[in-house]
Amino acid sequence: MNTANPDELLKQYYGYDRFREGQKEIITALLTGRDAFGVMPTGAGKSVCYQIPALILPGVTLVISPLISLMRDQVQALRASGIAAAYINSSLTSTQIDAAMTKAANGKYKIVYVAPERLKSLTLDAEISFVAVDEAHCISQWGHDFRTSYLDIPRFVESLPKRPVLAGFTATATAKARDDIIKMLGLRSPFALTTGFDRPNLRFEVRHPQDKYQELKTYMGENDGNGIIYCSTRKEVESVTEKLRRDGFSAARYHAGLTDDERSRAQDDFLYDRTRIIIATNAFGMGIDKSDVRFVIHYNMPQNVEAYYQEAGRAGRDGLPSECILFYSRRDIMTALFLINKSENPDEIQRNKQLLNQMERYCQTDGCLRQYLLEYFGERARSECGNCGNCGGDDPETDASVDAQKILSCIWRINKQNRSFGFGVICKMLLGKPDQYILSRKLDEIPTFGKMSGEDANYIRRVYDRLVFLGYIAVRDDRFRTATITDKTPEVLFDGTKVYVRGEKPESGKKASSRGRKSEPPRYGFSQTLFDKLKAVRLEMAKESGVPAFVVFSDATLVDMAQKRPQNETAMLDVSGVGSVKFERYGQRFLAILREDAAESGATGGDANAGVEAGADSRPELSLASFLRQIEITDTPIQITRVADSFNAVFLQYGQARVSGQGLNKLLLENGYLEVVDNAKLPTEKGAEAGITTIERHSERGAYRQCLFGRETQRILAELAFAARL
Ligand SMILES: [Zn+2]
Repeated sequence: MNTANPDELLKQYYGYDRFREGQKEIITALLTGRDAFGVMPTGAGKSVCYQIPALILPGVTLVISPLISLMRDQVQALRASGIAAAYINSSLTSTQIDAAMTKAANGKYKIVYVAPERLKSLTLDAEISFVAVDEAHCISQWGHDFRTSYLDIPRFVESLPKRPVLAGFTATATAKARDDIIKMLGLRSPFALTTGFDRPNLRFEVRHPQDKYQELKTYMGENDGNGIIYCSTRKEVESVTEKLRRDGFSAARYHAGLTDDERSRAQDDFLYDRTRIIIATNAFGMGIDKSDVRFVIHYNMPQNVEAYYQEAGRAGRDGLPSECILFYSRRDIMTALFLINKSENPDEIQRNKQLLNQMERYCQTDGCLRQYLLEYFGERARSECGNCGNCGGDDPETDASVDAQKILSCIWRINKQNRSFGFGVICKMLLGKPDQYILSRKLDEIPTFGKMSGEDANYIRRVYDRLVFLGYIAVRDDRFRTATITDKTPEVLFDGTKVYVRGEKPESGKKASSRGRKSEPPRYGFSQTLFDKLKAVRLEMAKESGVPAFVVFSDATLVDMAQKRPQNETAMLDVSGVGSVKFERYGQRFLAILREDAAESGATGGDANAGVEAGADSRPELSLASFLRQIEITDTPIQITRVADSFNAVFLQYGQARVSGQGLNKLLLENGYLEVVDNAKLPTEKGAEAGITTIERHSERGAYRQCLFGRETQRILAELAFAARL
């Protein structure tokens, strides 16, 4: 038994100074012999929760994991950190398995990863003191990845001579699934812990592009880094891959229609940074442990929120800013319904339609996307996150009431003739585009024909979608998705109820730009050249050792390195993610680069202090006057998150901590510029005098008032933020 304590092991093997939320509690419970159940979002550091107890407990720890690729990656990562581990799955020959078993029995390995399918035939001559079940939701029919082989786990545990400590871990599970997992696994009064589902480094956004491929191409051109693009069908994967390749992007593809070989090659190409992006169906990803995925784009809407959050959650596992963008179109709903209706079980169809509906609401909501997701998982969220497409953006809302009336009137008149059509026909009628179909049905004789001629078709679609979402149009569940009016329609058509859509209305005759602001590459406040050099060394070393780059060091570790610029071993071990084994293995080559960089900047006089002292901050001091000069103060009143963005652009250049919209609001409350009235933050008299105004916004929960900050308040905020930052 290892006598080191968990904190020492964390520093030695993983290079971290402290545990993340929940890790220590679970480890402590397991070490006292209690079963445990952890619900932790992807990227929260689940594996540390079972790997550290495994190092301390006597005998061998079995980790049951559903995917071969995950096992291989985890074992590689453990070995890179100096921990002896092995895996047993169908990718090994029986001789290899026997050899691994013998070594495990002789105490050569502390951790052995096993596929659930292998449990039936597993015989191990060593004491198994701890069994950890990863992706534990696979045992529940309520989860979304049910696997029969998981049912063998309780039987296997009971068959052992001495019952080991048992733990289950999963990234996503609703309350119903959680209870089910505990029961099915046979956990005995486990220490159960659910850490927050929030992933603050992920920025969520829903876009409604007119041309999805164009949108994707533009995004790819503007953003660096690795990314996953999810499509709902194999066919779409093929077509998007082909287009991207034709446009010069390096892309791998992955779906169930490929051979095993093709799939594992695609996965490895992505993992080892030979291709920057992978286009895949949802068959890809469970157990993908690549930590430096900078964006996950859903080219189609998934069938439910749980699957979406899990797939999107594969971005930014290293904690650095990353994006999760969903490209929404109504056609995705038709595809999803088609797939759902294939089932022969009416209950299942009903349940899945309900889940689909919640997914659609996510795409249509005006409210904070993060809040929506967190509430879906039963977590109370603060009101606005300031870091999603809906509350971070500065898109104005457009009053589309008149256009809504034109659309509804058109449907009303069609319905009056006992006919109904889908959006395509309705749109052509409104635009006044007579074709054979329209003329043969005399649809050009309906009075609303041409009422929106010259308007942008994508804008009409946005208003139409909004009306469907709000219940003013009912869409039949048939192949044509034909539209009919509802009981609510008269509210808009005759009673003056307003309808708003996000984004500006394009001028007649001009194409709409797609919704959503351009994403800026994340800025961290360090030398990009140095960072690139560190990355290049990392790639070299990864190739030499035959491991993915992030197994050597994660992006987050390189960022910390580029910021701290250590010049010796002690300072290097202070970098987050550099443990003693990894330092021995890789440290010197990185130190060489850092010293070289320090010498160069010293020689050119660029950084007077660089290289003199390890980790010295060589950036010039920021004064209030210089801060006020550099920030962008606008004449138009803006939202608090925009104010924060403008401050951060300067703070980051000087290597100072970011401020959030939330933080600025707090300063305003503390200094008497804002007050809380009925849960809403509103300007006080002092605030109003200083130029804080409010406008009315609309969400599903009804109207609310949002504060805007004019020139004078922006300046006051700058002073407050500057003082508070110290
Ligand atoms: Zn938000």
